[in-house]
Amino acid sequence: MQFTKLRIPKGTQDYYFDYLEKRSYIENKMRKNFELWGYKEIRTPTFEYFESLATGTGLELQESMFRFKDKGGRQLALRAEMTSPIARVVATELRSHPLPMRMYYLAPMFRYEEPQSGRQREFWHAGIELFGSSLPDADAEVLAVFITTLDDIGLKGVSVELGHVGLFKSIVEEAGLSLDEAAAIRRSIDKKDDASLETALKEVDVSSAMKDVFRLLPKLRGDISVTKKILDNVDNENVEICIKNISDTVKLLELYKLDSRVMVDLGIVRGIDYYTGAVFEGFVKDLGTALGGGGRYDNLVGEFTGESIPATGFAIGVDRCHLALEKQGFKFPLKNSPQILILYIDQELKGEAVKIAVNLRKLGLSTEIDILERKLTKGLEHANKRGIPYVVIVGKTEFEQGEVVVRNMEKEMQEKVKIEKLKNYFQK
Ligand code: AMP
Repeated sequence: MQFTKLRIPKGTQDYYFDYLEKRSYIENKMRKNFELWGYKEIRTPTFEYFESLATGTGLELQESMFRFKDKGGRQLALRAEMTSPIARVVATELRSHPLPMRMYYLAPMFRYEEPQSGRQREFWHAGIELFGSSLPDADAEVLAVFITTLDDIGLKGVSVELGHVGLFKSIVEEAGLSLDEAAAIRRSIDKKDDASLETALKEVDVSSAMKDVFRLLPKLRGDISVTKKILDNVDNENVEICIKNISDTVKLLELYKLDSRVMVDLGIVRGIDYYTGAVFEGFVKDLGTALGGGGRYDNLVGEFTGESIPATGFAIGVDRCHLALEKQGFKFPLKNSPQILILYIDQELKGEAVKIAVNLRKLGLSTEIDILERKLTKGLEHANKRGIPYVVIVGKTEFEQGEVVVRNMEKEMQEKVKIEKLKNYFQK
């Protein structure tokens, strides 16, 4: 028995009608904000060579990729995120484009993960990448685009947690460990899991003062003053640089009046390997998981061709934003189309009915015409079922007077309207 014929793979979804209209509303708002900030659209292939997609991403993401071979035996994969492909374009085709360079994308991503609410195997990312500046001004801009985009789609109470991956790396170095030796510590801090952190700390040969610093990291959440606590406990130049970078970014966000939306979290140690600097994630209370995240990745372009360009960006999960908006009871402005159904009583009037439909569409009114030669009652029943608000009935007697009947389905009222006055009727 062929069950798969009627099914779609786990973690995928069919999108249609009102759901898709809501989705388009979100996407259009996002696109509009990205363009307002001067970002231009970029699209890369849905599948590429695995080696290229894997660049800079780390094992966790690579293992989640859908991989396959082409007929020539080359290893391909579906993209799981868009930052590496864009860095490849920057490293090759856009090598001599003037900097800074701002770009955005809206595209489906694919990850072989265990599906659950807000986690699918095909999902959409809306993101931006900003190339060419290592200043915190770029990090602040990217954060400001992130917050204003989530605000613009209608989400309430968006907040951002900001950290710095260099901080953890510097502390690991100061403790005399390699990043591999500190992998278990990193995982525990990421999950804010005290018990597993203690186990991981027992496994490493580090001074008790440095162990206390690792214990402190996941607790350092709050306003910018938490950065002072880390400086009181570690004397390391790189740590100071990271902290200054976070402080400068938050100060710049004051210029956008968005600093109050950012909470510093020094325990953020994001999963994807290519991050090198400030990193962040965005949340709303109504959704337990992140809406999106991003950060600085100054070495990724260099991993393609050797010559680096500083860069920062983010990816927002469009599906999760949709979920969060529904949870917040957001009223999407649906277009309610079609607005008009045209029925004609007499076959001879088909040509006239088509003409009226063409003219109504020219006015921007979404208009359907009966294509089943339905009788009047059947046609009205159909309009009712579909929730079409107006029916224009082209009947012989009225047509001879230059008129049609317009029925308001909700009010269950109808009136005769001169054909040349239909424009005025619908525009009021
Ligand atoms: P990441 O590239 O993992 O930082 O993802 C950025 C955002 O994409 C996350 O915050 C989520 O909103 C969204 N996202 C990531 N993975 C999935 C998934 N499997 N299903 C749905 N959304 C996802």
